[in-house]
Amino acid sequence: MRNMSKFIRIDTSKSKARVESVPSEYEFHGGRELTSSILLDEVDPKVDPLGEGNKLILASGLLAGTPAPNFSRISAGAKSPLTGGIKEANVGGSAGFLLGLLEIRAIIIENQPETKDIFHHVIVEGDNIQLEDASEERFLGNYELARKMIDAHGKGISMISIGPAGARCMNMASIAVLDLQHHPSRHAGRGGLGAVMGSKGIKSIVLKRIKGTRLEYTNKDVFLEVSKKWSKHLKTTKAGFSKLGTAMTVGISQMLKGLPTKNFKKGTFDGADNIGGEALHEMIVERGGKFGIPCLPGCAIQCSNLVKDAAGNQVTSSLEYETICLNGSNLMIDDLDTIAKIDGACDDIGIDTIEFGGMMGVLMEAGRYEFGDKDAPLEVLEEIREGTKDGVFYGSGVAAVGEALGVERVPAAKGQGFPAYDPRVYKGMGVTFCTTPMGADHTAGAAIFKRPGLDPNHDYGDVSENKGKLRLSYELQVLIGALDMLGACYFIGPSRDTLEKVATLLNGRYGWQGTWEDLFDKARKMIGRELLFNQGAGITSQDNDIPAFFRQEPSEPTGLTWDMPREDLASFWTERLD
Ligand code: SF4
Repeated sequence: MRNMSKFIRIDTSKSKARVESVPSEYEFHGGRELTSSILLDEVDPKVDPLGEGNKLILASGLLAGTPAPNFSRISAGAKSPLTGGIKEANVGGSAGFLLGLLEIRAIIIENQPETKDIFHHVIVEGDNIQLEDASEERFLGNYELARKMIDAHGKGISMISIGPAGARCMNMASIAVLDLQHHPSRHAGRGGLGAVMGSKGIKSIVLKRIKGTRLEYTNKDVFLEVSKKWSKHLKTTKAGFSKLGTAMTVGISQMLKGLPTKNFKKGTFDGADNIGGEALHEMIVERGGKFGIPCLPGCAIQCSNLVKDAAGNQVTSSLEYETICLNGSNLMIDDLDTIAKIDGACDDIGIDTIEFGGMMGVLMEAGRYEFGDKDAPLEVLEEIREGTKDGVFYGSGVAAVGEALGVERVPAAKGQGFPAYDPRVYKGMGVTFCTTPMGADHTAGAAIFKRPGLDPNHDYGDVSENKGKLRLSYELQVLIGALDMLGACYFIGPSRDTLEKVATLLNGRYGWQGTWEDLFDKARKMIGRELLFNQGAGITSQDNDIPAFFRQEPSEPTGLTWDMPREDLASFWTERLD
């Protein structure tokens, strides 16, 4: 069956949009594979990330809009202002499903308006695409914007938007997507892609549902049967995840002594129990919040939550491990109420909670604030929201702030702040931070505790040993890369078994005749293209390392250092992609 999808291309210099059919060479490209291919084909790697030559691509996966479990995420891709290299950040919410249903494979945003104060809302209703003036609303928070757009267009819409940080082109700006409760709580956080959207003068993209839209399948019965069985399996095997969410990782990292604490000085935190999965679950239940909610249609795992304050008012959704750790243990704050407020404010302002927490750790390390000061992050967030001189500085990210303040201990790789895994303890994660084309990004090859690579019977070594970690990181980077091109949430499990099921689904949807090996190979080639882009941008294998202090300073209390041989990191891809 021919793939009927289309592209929407928006020329922001002319305030015009047009619909194109998907070129044949991209017929079976989706998600990250599509964003990275378009960037390589259409963008000079040397361009200014916030200049007119960069493009922002929002792509749906090949199975978006279907009942397949967890397959309707959006990939956002551009040259990153934070890393200076290629970036893809994917996000849940309701927009990916709608893009799939409307058979919109990608929205490509290019060029720039004449002046920096010109902003637009893009309203997509089938092939009718209108650009409406948003200049007066450019600094609105995501929450107020969502209320306005829902009032104007109804609850059936989805929306992709930026907050004031994106409108001011701050390097830590994120792209928000409405969740299923109509809150702009899901974010493509990493890489500062919200700044690229802001540099194009696009405040929001509103997607309207067209009644009666139906997708065609080559073999719908097979597709539905596999989807149904898989959903059922995920619901039973991931029930703990649904109850405690990703916050349960606080306890695991504490047990492994790899929970980033006090700007990555230590691996354990005395207040860990106060901010872990059980504490969060109790707080949610007591206050009438919600746990076990899906962030996108068809999610079978449902790890999302909605957190309320003591008075029963919603503070944020969804509070997750990375945010809790970077803004909790990393800052020596053991109060979930404060962390929930930080999360809610970050979502409203439109910034990445990982980059923000990492930057706050550096500010505390520099002595601008005390570790444990609960008011400090909220004060800094208001500076960022208002775009004061200090706020613009803070919004520039972990690496830039650390360098400007002369801080030696700056947890960042290739310009991007570390996620919540101490690489001295989580050795496989460390390899991923060093080698992925995406900068320090755990989602690119998440070597969490006990996760194997392609072969579950192979000995990949203990989490804190170097043994097996080059292979593990490589296999996970390719497996997760394959899921990224399909629009999948990798919580379904990056494995050969998963790719086998996906191959059957692609066959049921499009009549695609490939195997799991074909998907694995496509993902390898995708990473190869991303590395090529980075090479053109001046990022090479010699940059494959993490800051020196991780090699010199033992983590407390394990005494472990980062001791992966530099030459193994430098030759990581040449050995595996050639
Ligand atoms: S498992 Fe969690 S992150 Fe993944 S799609 Fe479901 S709710 Fe979203």
